[in-house]
This record gives sequence, structure tokens and C-alpha cells, in this order.
Amino acid sequence: MKFARKKSFHKSVFILCVLCASVARCFSLDREAFSITNYDVNAQVDPEQHRLGVRGKITLRNDSAAPQKIAVLQVSSSLDWRSIKAGDKPLQFVRQPYTSDIDHTGSLSEAIVTLPQEVAPHGTIDLDIAYEGVIVLDATRLTRIGAPEDAAKNTDWDQIGPDFTAVRGAGYVAWYPIATDVANLSEGDSLFEVLARWKAREAGAKQHVKISLSRNSEGPTLQLVVDKGSCVVSRKDSGQEQQIESECNFHSPGLVIPFFAVADYGNVDRDSITVYNLRTHAAPAETYVDAAEKAAPLIREWFGPAREKAQTIDLPDGNSAAYEIGAFRFTPLSSDSKLIGIAAAHQLTHASFSSPRPWIEEGLAHFSQTLYLEQEKGRRAALDYIGTHRSALNAVEAPMSTPRSEDEVNRSLINTVNEELYRSKAMCVWWMLRDMIGDAALKKAIAAYKPEQDKDPSYMPRLISAQTQRDLEWFFDDWVYRDHGRPNFKVESAYAQKTMNGSFLLTITLENQGGAGAEVPVLIKSTRGEITKRIEVRSKSKTTVRVEMPTAPQEIVVNDGSVPESETKDNVFKVAAPKS
Ligand SMILES: [Zn+2]
Repeated sequence: MKFARKKSFHKSVFILCVLCASVARCFSLDREAFSITNYDVNAQVDPEQHRLGVRGKITLRNDSAAPQKIAVLQVSSSLDWRSIKAGDKPLQFVRQPYTSDIDHTGSLSEAIVTLPQEVAPHGTIDLDIAYEGVIVLDATRLTRIGAPEDAAKNTDWDQIGPDFTAVRGAGYVAWYPIATDVANLSEGDSLFEVLARWKAREAGAKQHVKISLSRNSEGPTLQLVVDKGSCVVSRKDSGQEQQIESECNFHSPGLVIPFFAVADYGNVDRDSITVYNLRTHAAPAETYVDAAEKAAPLIREWFGPAREKAQTIDLPDGNSAAYEIGAFRFTPLSSDSKLIGIAAAHQLTHASFSSPRPWIEEGLAHFSQTLYLEQEKGRRAALDYIGTHRSALNAVEAPMSTPRSEDEVNRSLINTVNEELYRSKAMCVWWMLRDMIGDAALKKAIAAYKPEQDKDPSYMPRLISAQTQRDLEWFFDDWVYRDHGRPNFKVESAYAQKTMNGSFLLTITLENQGGAGAEVPVLIKSTRGEITKRIEVRSKSKTTVRVEMPTAPQEIVVNDGSVPESETKDNVFKVAAPKS
């Protein structure tokens, strides 16, 4: 498989070399030399024909250190480049397919454009562009690495069609131009790395996107759903012809990935959320908004008032995987209603709070799910939920090994592009912080956070430290700035003595053999109930504590599941009967 793909890559380089005037330049083709700093595009959507046609103007900026005469522009392989001009002058360009998993088709239509003159480093050039084609359901990038067809289509559900249209941006469908190196799903985090690099390069880009839709045939009234906060939607229906237009201006410090959906949607609108439902899903839409309204007070209490209204878009196939873009969520409303509450809590958190850093943005949104579960069903239910994320973590982190030094940096929460880490691990980190400093202090730190002031990875840790007397530097170093692996606790010894006044004094020595320290809850059981003591044990060290109890201690259980540990076989300890 890998061999076949490599071969096609070399083949395309070869074709390109024959076509290029300069072979030397061809081999130094730098796909990420230019960033697109301004998009001004008009997209025409024709659901009956599955078609998309785009015309517009983009500005390229040379982000490389060398002057560039060649620019690379890419769109989905199901779209064709029609023209590329600078001013009124049509530019020479070579079309070629470029295998990359950044698009659902597993390939891009690449235009290798010869610019009218070299663009100096930091210099810019405006181009007029036109491309068109179809966007149909296509899961090639997943099926070719062995995913079963059904599972692949449940993930890559983007399409333009008469009954249902939903198109996400790069990472799913490159329906607007991008310029990226190859992303390969069979090579670890390659796709996430390419996407993260692309988003970082284009952060702050100006985006003006117009989407027009027309439909001449009879049929239900279509609704165009786009980001309401940044777009204005207008209808110009005449007779049988439906015409809808949306004009969007995105002003965001990060890059906004524009998306759109079209179907015969109804909607349910409440204070915290609008749900767009397919006509057959009116009842589950009500269930969803009810769940959101129920979660809303808790989310407000932790993350402040909503900055925007959450919006949920229904997907027709109940097996489709949900997908989120900030406070927007695509989800099949017909799917399992048990998960609706935690989905709503997550979505509302994004509507209230945002951060350019994934471990904060997504970590807190997942943390809010545990808060919601704790409110609804108690701490145990929240810890069980954390447990389900821990298995995802086990899959990406070798539990027993200490991270290699480059992984310590690359896989740290501040740097990682790995979803399991910035979602599941970050969620555990927020839960541990809350256990260590308390609800009130953590809420204050979250309230003090301003995304536009987050210029340094230590900004959030400093806000948290400011709310507590405790030294947390070791904790941030083990869990946030570095990946020091996980703790591994062991009760080294525990013995009880009867005191003069008839109570019992238990002395516990807890050892942490792992690379990361933590404060861990320790449950001490006796014949008449149990007590919990929290014990801080730094990495590769021991802590001894004494606990006075009214009855003789019998058993010690370390870690209630709130601290992600590399292994837990030494976590239960039988205490010998005290000598009297
Ligand atoms: Zn999220």
C-alpha cells in the first residue's frame, strides 16, 4: 500500500519535471512556502447536480526565506482548476493530482502556478482563481488504509446532494484553496501535523465567503445552515426557484474553517442553543435542546455567559460520527439519547469559552462533561467516564515506558497535535487541578482567562497558580509543559498503632515509581466505614503520612480513578491488625 502511494508520488514529480522549465526548481518545490492571507470567494452550490463552482480572489504571502516564482494551490481532487490570473493576465499552470489524506478523496487537484515575477520573502501577490466540480460521498482515504466501507462513510459523510448537503473544510473537503505538504493517515499524526501547521500559518487570515444556492425543481424548501455569528443568510425565491445566499465575514484570531449544510431543516430555538433537525427528527431535536437547557446553568457557572449561541445540525444517518467546529456540532439527532447531555455540556462550553490552545479549549470542554455527569449522577459516574477516556490514553501512551526526551517536548500538552492527549489527558489534568485547588479557585482562574492575552504557554498555569497558595510548578512541569508519563503508586508500608485515647494511628508510606507526580486520593477502609485522604507524591519519590482514625484500619485503596496511572496492580494494601 505505502509502496504504491510512494510510486504515484514519484510519478507525479516526474511528470512535473518534464513540464517544468527548470528541473532544479521543480525538485525544490516548496508547497508550504506561501500562506493564503486573504480569501474573497463566491461559491455556487447546485444540490441537484452535486456541483460546486468557486470564483474569487486570494492573497498569497511568501512565508519562506527565499524568493518564490512558483506557487502551489490545492483543492479537492473532485474539483478542477479552470483559471488562475494575476491582474487580468492568465497565468501558466500545470494541473496534477497530489495524493494526500487532507481531503476525503485522498487526493488533491494541484495547480503549480508560474507567477509573473518572483515574490520576495514576506511579499504578497493577489490571484483571481476559478475551479469547479462535484462533491459526492467519498471515503477513499479511509477505505484504502483498510477501514470497512460502512465505518469509513460514517466518518467521511461530506457531500452535496439533492436531499442533503454537508461540507466541512480542509481535513475533510478542500473546497477552498489550500497549500500543504502530503498528509498520510497511515503515518501516525501526519494528518494532524499538516493541519496544525496549515492552521498556524493562516491564523488571522481575512475570510469573506459568499455561498449561493439555487434549485429549480419542485421539492421541499431547503435551508442553508452556516455559522450564524459570522454570516447573513437571505432568500430570494421566485416562483418555483429557490435561491438562498449567505455572506460570511470571519474575524477570528485563529483560522475559521468555513462549512455549510443544506437540507429540508426545521429548527428548535432556545436561549442557549438552536438545533436544525431533519423533519423526521423533530422529537429528538426537542430532547437535545432540553438537555442543553438543563446543562446551561452549570456551564455558565464554570465558564461564564455564552459568547455565541450553540448550534447543532442534524445528520440523516444515525451512524454518522459527530463533528464539532467550535460551538457548532454536526450530529445525528436520531442516535443514542443517553449521550445527549454530555454532548450538550461540551458544546455549550465552546459557546462560553474559547482558547487557541487545544489542551485548554478541548480539555475544558471534556472536563465540563465530567462536571455535568457529577451533577446528574454523582462523582462515581464522573470517574467512570474519565475511565473510558483512560483506555483511549492507554492506546496512545505506552503505559510502562518513560517518554523519550523528544516525546517529552513534542507530546506535551502545550505542543501535541494528538487528539487523545489534548482531549483525554487534558481532561484528566483539569480534573486533578480541580481536586487540588478546589472549585472556587479554578472557576476564578478560568474567569480571568482572556484568549487574546494567551501569548505564552505559561499564561493559563500562572492564572491558576495566582488563585492558590500551593506550589503547582512541579505539576505543570510533569503534565503540561512536558510529557513525563504517568505516576505509578505503590503502598510501600502501612501499619496501625492503638493510641492512648483508644483511637488508631495509621502510618502510610506511599511510593510513586512513575515519571509524573500527582496528588492522589487514598481510601482507608475500616470495619465502620471509610475515609479519604489526599496524598501528594512527586515523581520517583515517597511520602509518609499519619492518619488518626476512630476504628482499626483494614485496607488501603490508592487512586479512585481520578489520576491516570501507568498501572494499578499495587494499589490495594491489607493493613495488619494493630498490636495493642
Ligand atoms: Zn470540543
